[in-house]
Amino acid sequence: MSNVEERPVEQDVCSADAAVAAEPDLEPLHPRDVPLGGPRAMRVGRVLPNRDRRLVGAWCFADSYGPEDIAGREGMQVPPHPHIGLQTVTWLVEGEVLHRDGLGSRALVRPGDLSLMTAGPGIAHSEQSPPDHSPVLHGAQLWVALPEAARRTAPAYEFHTDLPRLDVPGADVTVFIGDIAGAASPATVHSPLAGAALALDAGARLRLPLVPGFEYAVLVLSAAATVEGREVPAGDMLYLGRGRTELALAADRPAHALLLGGEPFAEDLVMWWNFVGRSHDDIVEARTDWERERADAPANSRFAPVTGYDGPALPAPALPNARLKPRPRYHRH
Ligand code: MN
Repeated sequence: MSNVEERPVEQDVCSADAAVAAEPDLEPLHPRDVPLGGPRAMRVGRVLPNRDRRLVGAWCFADSYGPEDIAGREGMQVPPHPHIGLQTVTWLVEGEVLHRDGLGSRALVRPGDLSLMTAGPGIAHSEQSPPDHSPVLHGAQLWVALPEAARRTAPAYEFHTDLPRLDVPGADVTVFIGDIAGAASPATVHSPLAGAALALDAGARLRLPLVPGFEYAVLVLSAAATVEGREVPAGDMLYLGRGRTELALAADRPAHALLLGGEPFAEDLVMWWNFVGRSHDDIVEARTDWERERADAPANSRFAPVTGYDGPALPAPALPNARLKPRPRYHRH
């Protein structure tokens, strides 16, 4: 997915304070409503980065969308756009998304599949509802920040259809990133990280084991879930802090949610549009390369053209006048 905000702005100016609670925390994070672009734009709820809480582990971006009735409509149509310094994760509850990228990948992503694209120094991709799509689209788009040691790793695409599931009474838990209770995802990540999809039955009451050194959050995708005794509505995230050994979950009605966690990310980041870098200059270089290459990529270009996509690529928005500053994962007022 592309960040297509017309004027992507920096978050509030932050101090260098990168504090993250060492203890369990309960911090509700509410989404902002963002159009995904195009004349009949789908709208998404963006819950990361949030005003003060920018990351959970290396998870640096979280959009949820739907359930949206797209019968007889185009649905999601995100033309080719670039990424640097991150991995994209597509997770669906209903419907399908057709992924294409500059490596020549083409994947029809369905519920239960993991679509994982590693940008490294640069890649372009498109995401579309296919012409013969299902009537309802419902899912999430997540980004993982690559740590310094991996941010120039070669671009890559992985598609996993047979992810490990945990047999927990009251829930179907699919581990798509990392390891939860011995169920390990085969997906390649570059920092200690966890991601699981939770399908909760009506009346579910359960506990999942957590890693105390990780910070965690739960993003609810449908209905509502009760997380550590707090009711969390669809679209909201509840940040849980660190130091927990388990997580209490409940639902009165069937609900879908994502559990995201990881070791607190120590590096300050510059996030602008679809780019994750370390400096203003990182972002300017990526934007300049994309603008030069998006219509007619030369040989050995940074952003190889998206194979099989018929139509123009997304232009980059204008940069702000001020220099972009690196931000820590959390800003304490
Ligand atoms: Mn994207």
